[in-house]
Order: sequence, then C-alpha cells, then structure tokens
Amino acid sequence: MSFSSLVSDITFRDRDVSDRRSQLSWGQSYASTAATSVSISGDISSQLHGGYSHPLARSWQAERQLTKSMLIYPLFISDIADEETLIPSLPNQHRRGLNRIIPFLEPLVAKGLRSVILFGVPMGPNSKDALGTAADDPEGPVIQAIRILRRRFRDLFIVADVCLCEYTSHGHCGILRDDGSLNNQMSVDRISDVAMAYAAAGAHCVAPSDMNDGRIRAIKLKLIESGIAHQVVLMSYAAKFSGCLYGPFRDAAGSCPSFGDRKCYQLPPGGRGLARRAIIRDINEGADIIMVKPASQYLDIISDAKELGKDLPVAAYQVSGEFAMIHAAAKAGVFDLKTMAFESTEGILRAGASIVITYFAPEFLDWLSN
Ligand SMILES: [Zn+2]
Repeated sequence: MSFSSLVSDITFRDRDVSDRRSQLSWGQSYASTAATSVSISGDISSQLHGGYSHPLARSWQAERQLTKSMLIYPLFISDIADEETLIPSLPNQHRRGLNRIIPFLEPLVAKGLRSVILFGVPMGPNSKDALGTAADDPEGPVIQAIRILRRRFRDLFIVADVCLCEYTSHGHCGILRDDGSLNNQMSVDRISDVAMAYAAAGAHCVAPSDMNDGRIRAIKLKLIESGIAHQVVLMSYAAKFSGCLYGPFRDAAGSCPSFGDRKCYQLPPGGRGLARRAIIRDINEGADIIMVKPASQYLDIISDAKELGKDLPVAAYQVSGEFAMIHAAAKAGVFDLKTMAFESTEGILRAGASIVITYFAPEFLDWLSN
C-alpha cells in the first residue's frame, strides 16, 4: 500500500470522528492530505528522512566523525626482546619484545596510525619488587621502546602509561603500608618520578593510570621544575572505574593484584558524582587531557567530562573487556564485528570524546581507508 493510499485509508476509518466536523472541512482535509502525502495535520517538522537519505548526509549528522588521528593503539611491550605471544583473552593482540615492535608497526604507520600507548610487561623472574623499581629502569621495556619508536617513526605520537602495578610484586598501583593499604604520598612521589623518566626518554605524553590522589599536580610540578612542561602532554586517567572489564588486560600485562582488589582507589561503578569531582580535581591540577575508562558502560561520564572540561580534549579507553566482548558476540553470530566496532565507537564520540584508545585501531585504519 502506498503512503498516500494508507493516509486515505486511515482518513476513511477516522470518518466517524471527522463527521463531528462539518462535511466541508472534512472534504478539504482529505483532499489536501491525498494531494501532498504530507502529514494530516500539515506539520512538516515531522519529515526527517530527506535529511539523511544519502550516505554523506548521514555522516554529517554526527557532531564528531571518526578519523584515524583520533585513535591511540595500546601496545604491550615485553622485556624479552624476541617475544611475540598471542594473548588468549584479547583477540588478535600480542605481547611483543623490542625486536618485534618496529616490523609490526611499520605497515600500521604507513596506513595512517598516529599514536600508540605503551604498557611495559616485565617477564623476568626477579623483575618485580615492592617499589616497582623496574618501572623506570633505563634498560626496561618502556624507556627502551620510547627511544626506539622516536628514532624510527618521526610522526608517531608516543603515550606512556604510568603505573606501578605491572612492576610491583603485590600487583597494586602504588607503594603499600604494612597493613596492605596504599601509602598515597610515597606512591605519588614514585609515580611522578616514573612519569619524569618516560618524559625525559622522549614520550610525547605521560598518562598516569594509578588513581592515587594528587599525582597530576605532582607530575605537572616536576615537569615544570625540569623545564619540559611545555613539550609534554599530561593525560589523566581521571575517571577510571573498578570492575570486571580489565580481565584480558591483566592477562596481557601480568598486573593482577596478588591480594585484595583496587576498589579503594579506582572509582565505584555507580559513582557519577565522585567521577565528576575527580575530573574537576585533575583539570585543576594541570591535566591537559581527561580520560574516562572504561568507555561504553560510562558514556554518561564521558558526557560529564566534556561538560566539565569543555575546553579540554576528552579521551575514552575502550578497554580489553569491551573489545573481547564485541569479538565474542560477533563470533557467536549476534552481530557483525565491523558494524559493532563502528557503532560502539560512534557512541563514545557522540558522548563527547575526541580521542579513543582502542584495540580496534589496526582494523579502523583499513576500514577508514575504504
Ligand atoms: Zn596500575
């Protein structure tokens, strides 16, 4: 049935109602509806389809469209130079040693990869201690990787994640008191030293993920004192929530706590107000970019971050569990992988992010080229 005959049919069925009006007015209404196929009331604001009938016009409906320069790709850098190990819980992702990074990245950079974020993974038997000493070891995987990548890829923007959990024997994101709780002051001192070591090695951006109170201010002050604050971006994991979506990452980075959990420093999933306070605090402490992590379960927080920090770029980390979940559902036939990769990322951008840290980065380089 055509639209105009459908309107006629509905109008005919509504005749009892219309009969309460004068015959003359019913006749005019019918004639005008049939002639124009527009809504019966004549309200043209109901007509939206034309505005997004063409693929290009559909893309114009988005405030922010995904581009390659929005993507940051996470890399797990092992201290075993020749290692290239598939991470079973994180589809298609590997831990790679220093000898494997350049050959892996060359084709991606050629396709337009602009930025990576580095996570060090010490594999040696004696590489972990209570202070996370290996985190800023000049011969350790992250500092070495920063140097190698800066030399080889002139235009690649290198972000160094800053935390201690990959390097501490207890797997927590700082230095502990005897009772097992975090010593905030000692942790901040140590974390800010590690950030300085990465910045001095040439990282364009340092990104503390530890969630200790006051670490953004401490890092910013040390960057200023060292005379390099003008050339280093400080990206804060401002709203990092605790939860079950980090499992595959912990497999990859070997950073699972040996006891307890991280609920005393990562945010509780329901804590929207707390997240807003953390975002405001980190902006005031000198963050250049605010990050929300995880992404798709926290779109309201991304939106809050954009509202609170409207003059700052907002980053969102689509974490390992989100990525693995999308892969698992696609494998089970629930949806098409590429379609959901785009849909989930478009949701993140719509909420307010303009930077997306994602394991889909290599695929997006291909998909955005086609
Ligand atoms: Zn950590």
